[in-house]
Amino acid sequence: MKRREFIVSSALAIGAGAILGGCGSKKDQKTASKVVRRKFQNITTPLIALGCMRLPMSDNKVDMVELDKMVEYAIEHGANYFDTAYMYVDGKSENAIGEVLKKYPRESFILADKCPAYLVKSKEDVRKLCLEQLKKCQVKYFDNYMVHNINKNTLSNYRDNNMYDELMKLKKEGLVKHVGFSFHGDPKMLKEVINEHKWDFCQLQINYLDWEVVNADELYKIADEAKVPVIVMEPLRGGVLCNLPSKALELLKQECPNDTQASFGLRWVAQKERVFTILSGMSNFRQLKENVDTFINYKKMTEEEIKTGYKIAQIIQSQGAISCTACKYCMEVCPRGINIPGIFGLYNMYKGSNQNNKNFLFVYNYNALEESTKANNCIECKLCNKNCPQNLDIPKLLKDVEKEIKKLEKEV
Ligand code: SF4
Ligand code: SF4
Repeated sequence: MKRREFIVSSALAIGAGAILGGCGSKKDQKTASKVVRRKFQNITTPLIALGCMRLPMSDNKVDMVELDKMVEYAIEHGANYFDTAYMYVDGKSENAIGEVLKKYPRESFILADKCPAYLVKSKEDVRKLCLEQLKKCQVKYFDNYMVHNINKNTLSNYRDNNMYDELMKLKKEGLVKHVGFSFHGDPKMLKEVINEHKWDFCQLQINYLDWEVVNADELYKIADEAKVPVIVMEPLRGGVLCNLPSKALELLKQECPNDTQASFGLRWVAQKERVFTILSGMSNFRQLKENVDTFINYKKMTEEEIKTGYKIAQIIQSQGAISCTACKYCMEVCPRGINIPGIFGLYNMYKGSNQNNKNFLFVYNYNALEESTKANNCIECKLCNKNCPQNLDIPKLLKDVEKEIKKLEKEV
């Protein structure tokens, strides 16, 4: 396939902004089916976007061959929105996606990046960080640029350093096209933040589990009432909704036999009309293809299917799973290198399983973790809690997991 034979698909573009393109041969470009798009400001965006938080890895490096293949398929099928951030993949995400995208005309893809609020100690830092990020991504502008992760700990960084005003200056200079914020706080805080400025968009964590058992419904309602377009993050809750407990999986198969776990979760958030794109972290070509194909053949959910989401959420909640999204932010600050998301992931698998040997499997898999990264090494310094966007009390949960393991070790 000749990558350079690029044709801009002007028929699908609205306005002069992001233009949907392709990267395959001329024949492929004419015949490749495209994902559905939604209007956003004066452009359109694909309903599914590649979140670059969990890129394909090999030997602790980003697998550039796999990533290249993923980006090629995504662009060819109109999924030309890419979302990265300063700290994703231990700081390697921006360089990696920039390296892959540099072969495509800039107007053929939409690139979103985020200013890490926790690193902003003065208003000058905003511009400094943005210029550094543009360089890492090898682009002259970001289509969407946002204050990253406003929460109870970063609210003062965002406000005291006038981050909104600084972002608007970047917009005036043409270094960014639209300004927004990503959010991990409570509804009261969102109401304040969303109404204190004129935002182009906001990025919220929405999925059927958070909708039913946390407060995603309230967050969405606030954005909807403020008429601020929404980008969805964590639509599959860091993979939790792709590893459903057996009982929930049976229900899904019975009520939505044509869906996979991922397609169900993605379609569920897509029915929200204020949503203009859904970010999904994808770590291999198979996942990307499955997600892109879901939005090529996109079918809006029926009321019955929407209700199935609530039923599944209730099953998950009744299993006592820990609501960790495996974002790894906690691990950036843990002085003991505890494998927090790994431990919580194993625990959730154990809780959701109805296999006869689930106790044995949990103990076996837990003991396979590197000794120094296990829960008993936690010194309860609580540094991790400050970084957790899900507001989990991590040391307490680690203690609970350790207690459970000890109990099971005596039984198996
Ligand atoms: S409380 Fe435990 S898990 Fe959290 S940062 Fe401290 S040592 Fe690491
Ligand atoms: S415990 Fe919190 S910070 Fe750590 S990986 Fe899970 S969600 Fe992210």
